[in-house]
Amino acid sequence: MTNQFERIFQTECILEKQTTGFWEIDRTLQFTFWSKEMYELFSNYSEKPPQLTEFLNTIQSEYADIVFKALRECIVHQRDFSIEYEIVSNAHRHRTVIQTGKAVLDKDGQVHRVIGTFQDVTSYRQFETRIKNVDTIISAITENLSAGIWAMDAQSGAILYLSNGVTDIFGYSLDEFRHDPLLWKKSIHPDDVMNVDYKREKLLRNGKLTHQYRIITKKNEVKWLHDQTLIVADENGSATHLIGIVADVSKPIESTMNIKYLSHHDSLTDLPNRRFFMKRLAEKMKNPAGEKRSFAMFYLDLDRFKYINDYLGHEMGDMVLVEMSIRLKRFIDSSCFLARLASDEFAIIHEGMTERNEVICFARKLIALIEEPIHFENQELSLTASIGICFYPDDGTSVQPLLKSADMALSRAKENGKNNFQIYSTAMNRKVTRYFASDKELRKALRNEEFFLEYQPKVDTKTGNIVGGEALIRWYHPEKGEIPPMSFIPLAEENGLIAGIGDWVFHKVCSDLKGWKEQGLEVVPISVNLSPKRLVVPGISQHIKSIVSHYDVNPSLLCVEITERSILLNEQQSQNVIRELKEFGIRFALDDFGTGYSSLTSLINYDIDILKIDKMFIAGMFEKNRNKQIIKYLLSLANSIDMLVVAEGVETQEQLDFLVQEGCPIIQGFLFSKPLKEPEFVQCLIQKTLPAIP
Ligand code: C2E
Ligand code: CA
Ligand code: CA
Repeated sequence: MTNQFERIFQTECILEKQTTGFWEIDRTLQFTFWSKEMYELFSNYSEKPPQLTEFLNTIQSEYADIVFKALRECIVHQRDFSIEYEIVSNAHRHRTVIQTGKAVLDKDGQVHRVIGTFQDVTSYRQFETRIKNVDTIISAITENLSAGIWAMDAQSGAILYLSNGVTDIFGYSLDEFRHDPLLWKKSIHPDDVMNVDYKREKLLRNGKLTHQYRIITKKNEVKWLHDQTLIVADENGSATHLIGIVADVSKPIESTMNIKYLSHHDSLTDLPNRRFFMKRLAEKMKNPAGEKRSFAMFYLDLDRFKYINDYLGHEMGDMVLVEMSIRLKRFIDSSCFLARLASDEFAIIHEGMTERNEVICFARKLIALIEEPIHFENQELSLTASIGICFYPDDGTSVQPLLKSADMALSRAKENGKNNFQIYSTAMNRKVTRYFASDKELRKALRNEEFFLEYQPKVDTKTGNIVGGEALIRWYHPEKGEIPPMSFIPLAEENGLIAGIGDWVFHKVCSDLKGWKEQGLEVVPISVNLSPKRLVVPGISQHIKSIVSHYDVNPSLLCVEITERSILLNEQQSQNVIRELKEFGIRFALDDFGTGYSSLTSLINYDIDILKIDKMFIAGMFEKNRNKQIIKYLLSLANSIDMLVVAEGVETQEQLDFLVQEGCPIIQGFLFSKPLKEPEFVQCLIQKTLPAIP
């Protein structure tokens, strides 16, 4: 910066020299000589110099007098002079000039004449003003900016300049810096010293450097500095100065760090989130040395968590999640990485765990940990979890395949009645996998009619006759193949497409019933699942009635399955819908009973025809004696109030035997039949019974 100023200054001085004129005046104050530069400056005179009075007229009036007096003083008292003033010269341009005068003496020592110079310093003065302005701006910048500017001697390391910004940031005064040239270095945060030293080497190589590091200020505060340093070199290329700007960037850096932390952590439990988990998983798979560092992955899902949210409220739901994450955090050690992947899903990467025995032991402990009751405001809550387990690299060598294996194992654990774990096996791969559809795909599916229905027979335990069927929706995805309802119904409920999908199911069931009738088959009542979201839609009963009437189907051939959750969403509305549709002739079944929190007696008011005992209860029947007792109690209670009972999810002979013994009239489950495609179900209707009845 200085160099540049100097250069301009020198240039301008040279220019000035060219416009210096000379003059001479005699004792009578008559000009006797003007050099050519004088004529150039005062172009109204060309051949001989003007009279002094004439000349003084061109000078600014307050100076005319001064110049006159100076000339006279010089002649009378030999006093040399130098005066700066303004003249209006050619074309009335204001020029700033410096006139000097010197007395020339004769041999008697008397002033004989006065000679002098006349220099046009206009551009010099203008330049000076400009510099002054720039200077004011620069000092305003350096002294008031919150950023600090500094300069240092490259050889001695002595501080040459520090602006207020630097002293403000560090808290040390200029004197303190001057006293201790190492003060800056000493202020660097110990954790950053090595890095800064390393960067300095880079500065020497590149001549400039921008970096960030922490300092500890005089007040013991930690601040983040943004430091831009530049080496200034002389003509020979050797460093003379180091100059730089530093700024306190603690706020932006901390907020970026905070944002980074938030983007990697779940705000409720403070656990790493899905994004962080995926990143960590990918990192763990990268083995620079090429050696295989295997690990186990546990994918954990709280069973029935949505009921806690629905029945006990989201606050309670949140409380449960926080409690569970605290337990998990305490349980794991440093070889584990724990994350919360979704609402009630957690995952653990357990490094170094490769043995099945170890994994089983760990999973059992996890289950026991979750099972411990939660006490909250005089309430006791019991939860269970299902866990899917897989190994890296055996069950997937990259992120997605490994997650898919864990997910498949988890699905299997859920199917097996929850509250258990499953280790992934390749056999699982053959099953239809859980697939998470997008809104767009689902909309397209509805437009292109990619859905179809399967019917699962319901069987009379005494006769083995098929006494009904449940319509279960499936989606045939053009690329992914068959997708089960639990992979898209929740999404449809969220985005509102459930209305269209629900309507489609009603239309299809009615049209099938009509078709079967026309084929002369002996039709059985078909159950349709009604989403909780739809039960509360105003006018839903009228809507359903109009579909049924459209196909001219006898309403008694239809049964609507609803869950206690849907009823509790809006009790009054539910009661009205049930009443209106029952008057029309449609029957109602209470689905998934036993998964919620309400008692059967509290649901009697709703005039439900059929009670479906949830498959989870049936699956756990022989593990927990309590389940058996509850089933017994439910059957006798339902019997006493003329409610029909259907046991869902019956898979084993043992389960069937118990249910028959206790007088359960109707069974639905894989033991008799899986859900069937329409033509196969028609075959069942023709045969009327299922051979599996013992
Ligand atoms: P859900 O109403 O409880 O349906 C019974 C589920 O149990 C069906 O699963 C069926 O395949 C399965 N299942 C039947 N027998 C057995 C058995 O012996 N063992 C085991 N482990 N499972 C058995 P699916 O078809 O996957 O349907 C799941 C859920 O999706 C249904 O549960 C229902 O809540 C929902 N869903 C299905 N179709 C529709 C529909 O058209 N509309 C609505 N809103 N929801 C539907
Ligand atoms: Ca159902
Ligand atoms: Ca069910």
